[in-house]
Amino acid sequence: MDVLTAAPRRPTRRILVGTVPVGGGAPVSVQSMTTTKTADVNGTLAQIYALAGAGADIVRVTCNDPEAAVALAQIVPRSPVPIVADIHYQYRLALAALDAGVHCLRLNPGNIRKPEHVKAVAEEAKARGVPIRIGVNAGSLDDDIAATYGITPQALVASAQRELSYLAEVGFQDVKISVKASSVPLMVEAYRQLAEVTDHPLHLGVTEAGPPPAGLIKATAGIATLLAEGIGDTIRYSLTADPVEEAHAGRQLLEAMGLRQRKSVDLIACPSCGRAEIDVIAVAKEAQAALAERNLPIQVAIMGCVVNGPGEARGADLGIAAGRGKGHLFVRGQVVRVVPESEMVAALVEEAERLVAEGADARLAAADASAAEEAERTRQALLADQGDDPNAVAQRIELIRKELGG
Ligand code: SF4
Repeated sequence: MDVLTAAPRRPTRRILVGTVPVGGGAPVSVQSMTTTKTADVNGTLAQIYALAGAGADIVRVTCNDPEAAVALAQIVPRSPVPIVADIHYQYRLALAALDAGVHCLRLNPGNIRKPEHVKAVAEEAKARGVPIRIGVNAGSLDDDIAATYGITPQALVASAQRELSYLAEVGFQDVKISVKASSVPLMVEAYRQLAEVTDHPLHLGVTEAGPPPAGLIKATAGIATLLAEGIGDTIRYSLTADPVEEAHAGRQLLEAMGLRQRKSVDLIACPSCGRAEIDVIAVAKEAQAALAERNLPIQVAIMGCVVNGPGEARGADLGIAAGRGKGHLFVRGQVVRVVPESEMVAALVEEAERLVAEGADARLAAADASAAEEAERTRQALLADQGDDPNAVAQRIELIRKELGG
């Protein structure tokens, strides 16, 4: 069960990126960006398909030279998701990308500096009904703005507002905005301030977050903080990694926060302790690999022991707990089948598929009559062997008390 404790979503106007609505109460969407040479049409399309499969609703593709613009004309009609063209420096490439049929443009105000160029692009985009993302980046602010405000949240917001005013001059309102920085506190505060002064939908991201795991943590810290405050309409993880990881991360964050319906397995595992009967990390990895490609919208638990596993993970739809060379499959905390340890991951996958197909009540009704009893016998035997305190908790408390003189 997903429980969303976040603030209500900030009301924003809605834009349409191809078929994907952004803002105005639409589900928060996931974006990622290809890393191929855009001119490599088949390579880029293969990556777009991989990103869409991993959960990206919208994919951005660089349009950095004329060959890329030409390739976009071939890519856009074959793409399973809307395509955003990323434009830096050359406004003519934005016009070319519009010709190629892209569904959105991303303009960096810091490097398309001439207002007349921005307006020329906006007029063309307006004629075609294509939205624009104003993509402000702390690393490429206008010189005068940086000189006035320094690299601050105010500078990022001022840059976005200046660009917005150019677009407004030609009556262009179909805009989403990002104010990214690689510093989490800077980007969080910039988005907060921006949310106060505009109702355009916001695209969240921590730019240049770096490789995982640190990059994942940074990006999550920034994006999740804002989403929990109700700010943000579309998100992108910018990782130094295969972009498929970005799409997975974005999707998983939204699912974890209850902002998107679960479409893939949520694998949880106990941290392992003195009671563990298996190598929990190895089994969790094996189960994750086996379940990854199956779109099963359930929570699955890998638990190190049958003494506490089924109880600790009774909130999961399905789980497996080890004990004495056996795997104890449980549905909502109730043991339904006992299998040899060597077969536990395969049995888990089979049960996961049946659970999704038949429902939990049917799987509980079909439980092996002797499974719960067998689990309880193993549980008692383990308790008898290990005692109540295999983690030596009492000993540690005693030690702490002595150290503290209590
Ligand atoms: Fe895992 Fe069992 Fe230890 Fe809980 S008691 S952490 S289920 S091994």
